[in-house]
Amino acid sequence: MLKPPLSEITQTQANGHSNGLPVATVQSLIQQHLLPLQEHETVGLTDALNRILAIDIISPIHVPAYDNAAMDGYALRSADLSNHTNTKYQVVGLAVAGKKFNGEVQENQCIRIMTGAQMPDECNTVIPQELVTLQKIEEQEYIAFTSHHIQAGDNRRLKGEDLAKDKPALLAGKLLSPADLGLIASLGIAEVSVKRKLRVAFFSTGDELRSLGEALPEGCVYDSNRYTIQGMLQKMGVTPIDLGVVKDDPISLEATLREACKLADVILTSGGVSGGDADYTRTLMHKLGYVLFWKIAMRPGRPMAFGKITSGEDSAVLFGLPGNPVAVMVAFYFFVRPALYQLSGRSKTEIQPMQVTSAQAIRKKPGRTEYQRGILFMNEQGQQQVRITGSQGSGILSSMSEANCMVILQHDQGDIAAGASVEIIPFEGLL
Ligand code: AMP
Ligand code: MG
Repeated sequence: MLKPPLSEITQTQANGHSNGLPVATVQSLIQQHLLPLQEHETVGLTDALNRILAIDIISPIHVPAYDNAAMDGYALRSADLSNHTNTKYQVVGLAVAGKKFNGEVQENQCIRIMTGAQMPDECNTVIPQELVTLQKIEEQEYIAFTSHHIQAGDNRRLKGEDLAKDKPALLAGKLLSPADLGLIASLGIAEVSVKRKLRVAFFSTGDELRSLGEALPEGCVYDSNRYTIQGMLQKMGVTPIDLGVVKDDPISLEATLREACKLADVILTSGGVSGGDADYTRTLMHKLGYVLFWKIAMRPGRPMAFGKITSGEDSAVLFGLPGNPVAVMVAFYFFVRPALYQLSGRSKTEIQPMQVTSAQAIRKKPGRTEYQRGILFMNEQGQQQVRITGSQGSGILSSMSEANCMVILQHDQGDIAAGASVEIIPFEGLL
């Protein structure tokens, strides 16, 4: 899961960046060291949402399987269209979805056809019913139409136009969406081969932390990071393994790290990696494996550990996240999330940031990436703008709760004027 060893270069790269390593450098170092999971399993389609496709899906059929009508109307031969102005077309039959017209459509004849019904072989064009006048002459129906806009092939869906037989319909590495499930079903496929779910163990460290249900003595705080992390992991479709709160002591920490190695592919810890308190964590993590302690040029979330630890036969990729609640989320979204997808075997998909106008001036120091919590809104002129949530402290979790997007202020960027464009990533999309 992790290419050994994490090259010494990574440490060397850190030197010369007194302000910390640029975010992009850290992201690419992580990416270079991860090897995707190989194991597959087969699941039924109803269990496949948010799973990662392990093998390409090749279409066993054409979808649609036959040319069919895209609208309710009348199907005819396009050769008859050229002289249509004064032409009447004799209605010689009916095709509905699931029931084909069995006869033959001759010159200047047509059939009534409903959406989705199979086109007769001779016909290639559907005249929408709205454009048609119907006449009855001696018990026989005829249509006439005056539209000059009708062209050969109009309002017909072609066989295989959605998916062609023997062609890849979905590629391995795709995170399966509701649309994908429908698409797979349209091929008549009931089971798919997906990557095994990644197991991610996590725990919080800190003598001051209390779990829910416990009393809160002075100087203590409730552990919120475990809940945030659990939620973010669940949304990604990995298997979360909650290992609780661990005291700031080397023996408990070592025992928990060893247990996590046994249980999981990836370990996320929060707290205990900032400058002063990192010493024994550092010693211990080095004892168990190869771990780098990074100072990253970002705000929030400056300290982070990354590496691989081993206990007996077991090993796991480790992310030592900062303790502050907002820093945890930022580090998760911008380092852990892409790494988990990469380990899970998901094909690479960058989140596409959007550029929007900032409704306010924002102070920003060049030389670090800042992740501010933003609210994307529509102003009175109907233009999309973003403003920053009240307090941006790295411990202010309500700023994250209130926000609907992340505002990303780039490494080299300085102060932002009101009305200038900034990069954002919305929290929620449609899928
Ligand atoms: P640390 O990195 O351990 O020094 O923690 C930095 C700050 O984050 C301290 O104020 C901690 O109390 C706080 N913190 C650390 N872990 C958690 C947690 N699991 N839940 C809430 N706050 C935390
Ligand atoms: Mg701590």
